Amino acid sequence: MSNGSFVWEDQPRHPHQSAMATLRFGQHVVSATVVFLRSELSFAIVNRKPVLPGHVLVCPLRPAERLCDLRPDEVSDLFVTAQRVAGAIGKHYGAPSLTLAVQDGPEAGQTVQHVHVHLLPRHAGDFSRNDDVYTELQHHDRVESEEEAPFRSLPDMEREAAELRTYFT
Ligand code: AMP
Repeated sequence: MSNGSFVWEDQPRHPHQSAMATLRFGQHVVSATVVFLRSELSFAIVNRKPVLPGHVLVCPLRPAERLCDLRPDEVSDLFVTAQRVAGAIGKHYGAPSLTLAVQDGPEAGQTVQHVHVHLLPRHAGDFSRNDDVYTELQHHDRVESEEEAPFRSLPDMEREAAELRTYFT
């Protein structure tokens, strides 16, 4: 089955540096080094601004914007991949529970125009009110909060991706 319009791209990091593999995440281009799982039709990346430790994202390889834009085989692969990732992050972060969420459309809080499943390891007391996680999901990556908590560094994201990759080898 074809991946539609998805391609791994080789782009120069800097005119004087060698090319690195990247892939598209909506309006963003992410380095392959922050991807920790690839399936036939999906990929999983670490988050540059996690709401909780281990907050990761699973996306279709084809950069479709909305859940309704995905073919049945893409939906199936996306959620099977999310299930595999859930097992890995649950173990890695010693989490008894997980939150999975899809913000499907701007009115639902979607900011990246590429379908993605949020997966967050959950522990007792991580929020004073359990469902506050949804409020935080709505605001955590907004520009106005960036000054208080900037995006993680690429090496930090790469370290987490390398750790998570070990669950799938
Ligand atoms: P949403 O608001 O549901 O569209 O979620 C977008 C998610 O993608 C947020 O959790 C962001 O922190 C995350 N995000 C945005 N850009 C990147 C990026 N370049 N690399 C990793 N995570 C990103």
